[in-house]
Amino acid sequence: MEYFNHLEELDAESKYLVHKSKEAAAHAYAPYSKFCVGSALILEDGSIITGANQENASYPLCMCAERVALYTAASLHPEKKILKLAISAHKKNHKDLTSATSCGACRQVMLEFETRQKKPIEVIMLGSDKKWIKAPSVASILPFSFSKVDLDF
Ligand code: ZN
Repeated sequence: MEYFNHLEELDAESKYLVHKSKEAAAHAYAPYSKFCVGSALILEDGSIITGANQENASYPLCMCAERVALYTAASLHPEKKILKLAISAHKKNHKDLTSATSCGACRQVMLEFETRQKKPIEVIMLGSDKKWIKAPSVASILPFSFSKVDLDF
């Protein structure tokens, strides 16, 4: 796990993905929470897929930005591996970023992707202490996870 005080300290690809996730957050549909989140992931061929959170008047049906991006990638490019995923959220002024670490549900979904492709997915996100987190894999941010192995009972 790596931590950075400023976005500029991250590698170029990570910074670019954060930039794309910030752009994606502008497409969030968040009339209820007003919390606009974007996610951007890069595939092994360099393609970038983005997603933004999508809310619903029936609250449990809301979908996080990360899962929108992941499911889009799986639908459009099922054979390509995901190398890295970034998440960012807008402050209410829609200019600056605020912290947004992935929820447990998204980490669980990310782990399924990581397990399926047999290759780690790096995750970039802004922690509540305002430090950028660069996780080397989904497994590193989801200890004691539930997986296919647990279904072999
Ligand atoms: Zn989530």
